[in-house]
Amino acid sequence: MLSGEGSVSEVMGDSEEAIPFTEHSRTLDALFRLCYPIADPSLTTASDLFNVMEASRKYMVDHAWKFCLDALMSPAILDKEPFNVFTITCRYELAKEARSAAKLSLRKDFPPLEDPAGLDWISGRTLFAYLKYRQACTDEVQYRVCNWEYWANTVLAQKSLTISCGTCEPLAMGGTTGEFKLDPDMYYKAALAIFERPSCWIPDDKIMRTLTELIITELDLLKQFPCFSCRERATHEVRQFNAEVVLSDLEDAISRVDLKLPF
Ligand SMILES: [Zn+2]
Repeated sequence: MLSGEGSVSEVMGDSEEAIPFTEHSRTLDALFRLCYPIADPSLTTASDLFNVMEASRKYMVDHAWKFCLDALMSPAILDKEPFNVFTITCRYELAKEARSAAKLSLRKDFPPLEDPAGLDWISGRTLFAYLKYRQACTDEVQYRVCNWEYWANTVLAQKSLTISCGTCEPLAMGGTTGEFKLDPDMYYKAALAIFERPSCWIPDDKIMRTLTELIITELDLLKQFPCFSCRERATHEVRQFNAEVVLSDLEDAISRVDLKLPF
């Protein structure tokens, strides 16, 4: 029914007049699928969704627009294309959705390789607000991880880590309990080495895994705990500490940064 690389003409019959559309056939096909009781279209990129959203507004198909917005905010698209989601949601002045996308975009290199979809429709003020937000988030993390006092006073002062083991002797007594402390120097040096790599200093799972590996190496658990099971438990404790204390604290700091959108 619909064909063509760019604009589409639909011919209803020999005597009918061709109706020109400015949208790509792919966009119109997706829009029609959302209007009629047939299988929903397969829209796998933010750019495809944006094209259908624009057509939905033009032809006033509200439920198709909502369908695309929900798909845009799904983890499959949002995690992968946060810059695109940010610009598209700003185009429709959706502040809450734009803030979610902006936060996720911190984990990506900036600027992105390709211009985001919808970039032509956002204002200079919006773009400037985003740049300020990104810098402020970077500053928040950098201020913390580059300060020895941060590791000494804020994080590591909490407590020493404790492990209990049911494998090593004396097993009959219900296991042993081991205590070990984390050294602020270790964290400070490891953080300086690790956090300077990401463009925005925002920690993600990969960075936290690297941090855990470095700390485990520095701790020399083999010397402290001859028992394999004890070392395994100690590693688990360090990983948990990094996720629940360090990562959580840095994420809290980022969450407090306000993205001041002009709409
Ligand atoms: Zn043990």
